[in-house]
Amino acid sequence: MNHNLFESFAKRMTERRQHDFIVTPEGRNYSYGEALEVTEQLAGALVELGVEPGDRVAVQVDKSPEAILLYLACLRMGGVYLPLNTGYTFAEIGYFLGNAEPHLFVCQPAALEAARKVAQETGCPHVETLADDGTGSLMTRAATAERYTAIEPRGADDLAAILYTSGTTGRSKGAMLTHHNLASNCRTLAEVWRFTEQDRLIHALPIFHTHGLFVACNVILMAGASMLFLSRFDVDTVIEAFSEGTTLMGVPTFYTRLLQDDRLSPERTANMRLFTSGSAPLTAETHEAFHRRTGHAILERYGMTETNMNTSNPYDGARIAGTVGLPLPGVEIRITEPGTHTPVADGEIGMLEVRGPNVFKGYWRMPEKTREELLKDGFFVTGDLGLKDAKGYIHIVGRDKDLVISGGFNVYPKEVEQVIDEMDGVVESAVIGVSHPDFGEGVTAVVVPAAGAELDEAGVLAALKDRLAKYKQPKRVFFVDSLPRNTMGKVQKNQLRETYRDIYKNA
Ligand code: AMP
Repeated sequence: MNHNLFESFAKRMTERRQHDFIVTPEGRNYSYGEALEVTEQLAGALVELGVEPGDRVAVQVDKSPEAILLYLACLRMGGVYLPLNTGYTFAEIGYFLGNAEPHLFVCQPAALEAARKVAQETGCPHVETLADDGTGSLMTRAATAERYTAIEPRGADDLAAILYTSGTTGRSKGAMLTHHNLASNCRTLAEVWRFTEQDRLIHALPIFHTHGLFVACNVILMAGASMLFLSRFDVDTVIEAFSEGTTLMGVPTFYTRLLQDDRLSPERTANMRLFTSGSAPLTAETHEAFHRRTGHAILERYGMTETNMNTSNPYDGARIAGTVGLPLPGVEIRITEPGTHTPVADGEIGMLEVRGPNVFKGYWRMPEKTREELLKDGFFVTGDLGLKDAKGYIHIVGRDKDLVISGGFNVYPKEVEQVIDEMDGVVESAVIGVSHPDFGEGVTAVVVPAAGAELDEAGVLAALKDRLAKYKQPKRVFFVDSLPRNTMGKVQKNQLRETYRDIYKNA
């Protein structure tokens, strides 16, 4: 049996030959039949360039339908797809190319000169270009290359992709994802989220990350559905798209931004059947506000680069605000005492560990890191702290590295943030630990006030006095216009820790 993920996709693509796969507002549309043909051409170009099964193909390009076809072409001929965040500088790219040793680097045309230089320095033999309008040297080559119409046989355990983690602590690690990892997860998600051929996904996420690439595109391909492919998230375009789309996969910032628009209403979203959220915590307030405004309960799910998706709120059952739902079918989650891996009782906070067909094979060329995080019994130590409630729903309280230890007590930032966020005049907050001479770490709050709100440090501290145990109360409160976030909407707490690192120096 051929376990190549593309085998399953090709079957659906052939059945759906006449139907839309990708449409764009500019009319750069591909039916499934057209997409199949371009994957043959692009796979032909990869083979012509000497890419062999198992070789890495590194890609740093703007979002376009053709970039998705390149991903599919790479799967088809057995290459290992390696997408890179478009925000990476060439100094960073040098690390990725040096670490992954791809046979080919595909870059944006404007970056060709710098890309050639870094490719030469790192021994990457080929550089080609792909522009966001679908032109570039790779497409030119594909037009004349001998078509590759086969589907390279792959084992379940062979690599389909390497995705580098965002690496907020130390070097990025390349998560090795197999054909079986990706296939099993998108099959499950298409089923539990009830995707059908009638669905049209509004795709407004970046495609170098697990969410926009694997969750979104693989689910659509598995279902034979279609996507309205937007170059980025833009409130006006997305609100317009609600009349044509049936589903939106978002990060929490999509929803907070949509909520700021007066047009958001039950009528506008009447054609939509599902809104999902992930990649960062969706606050219960946002979940509830969206429900009030549209009648839709956002379905929150939880996953990560290394594991694909792990949990989801149910499609039919209660979608509980502030939780990431139940383990997906076939996925096991245990919550353990950090360090010992001994399960804790339900309701107690511990480390989330995950096992299942979704869990990656290890970190590329980092056997020690792999051994530390991927345990002998198959459980992966996620680095996320959370608990399982009486109904079996998982609640995430934050990353273990964000845990604040003040005077020997554990302070979970989310608990403090929730209390601050409930205060009048607060839009949102982030709580971090900052080095403190007496306490080890001082609980520190960074708050975004609402426009016109009259908040000051003493007022916030006074309001928290009766709401939180003394050791959880912030020692200092700072105000900012907005919190630093990455493209997936995650608050960059490492940046905040850096900004405020000296505040208790003379305390
Ligand atoms: P990444 O590997 O970039 O996808 O980041 C994965 C991390 O994002 C997880 O380990 C969590 O810390 C966080 N994350 C993803 N989904 C959620 C969610 N629904 N709620 C809270 N955190 C989430």
